[in-house]
Amino acid sequence: MNNVCVYCGSNSGRDPLFTTAARDLATELARRGHTLIYGGGNVGLMGVLANTMLANGGRVIGVIPHQLAELELAHECLTELHIVADMHERKAKMAELADVVIALPGGLGTMEELFEAMTWTQLGIHFKPCGLVNANGYYNHLMSFLDTTVEEQFVRAAHRDMLVVNSDIEVLLDKLSAARVPVDPKWISDIPRNGGRAPDSQ
Ligand code: AMP
Repeated sequence: MNNVCVYCGSNSGRDPLFTTAARDLATELARRGHTLIYGGGNVGLMGVLANTMLANGGRVIGVIPHQLAELELAHECLTELHIVADMHERKAKMAELADVVIALPGGLGTMEELFEAMTWTQLGIHFKPCGLVNANGYYNHLMSFLDTTVEEQFVRAAHRDMLVVNSDIEVLLDKLSAARVPVDPKWISDIPRNGGRAPDSQ
């Protein structure tokens, strides 16, 4: 893995350990020589992540829609900044550039980006290992809910388990570089082989 895409809060969150986690991740990514792909902003954990990476001599590629860039939230000192038309183009570009994706603590935007990356893997649109930095247990409830999605047979265990979760950055990165992405079909059972058409309709 070379290019690591990180999704994280455009706020910093209440707990200073979230900022510590962003700093630790960026420091380790730079030390390992990875390129950071991220949303291009200079606010919240995103700003901490990008600035720590740059301070440690790392390469940082930002991808930001022009609307957000115009609101002057775009980081101006990145290695590369791609200004794209909209959020859809941004997520597609970030995914295209990434070898793996990781989420730090964040809000709705962070979770939406992480789950989109996971659903694209689930559908075979791409095959990118996905990781989660569970800083200070921030994502514990989300993990329990993902277990429920498996128990209730909406998600295959292999697809839930593709999310590599750890609060230790070095362990997480080691696990992600060895991760195997599931190739199981998304659908679990009860889907008729003819796709649900009536038997006599062709
Ligand atoms: P949230 O977790 O809701 O704060 O959203 C953060 C995620 O959404 C990041 O991973 C970004 O890709 C995107 N995002 C939200 N706000 C911004 C912003 N002001 N500048 C750049 N990207 C943002």
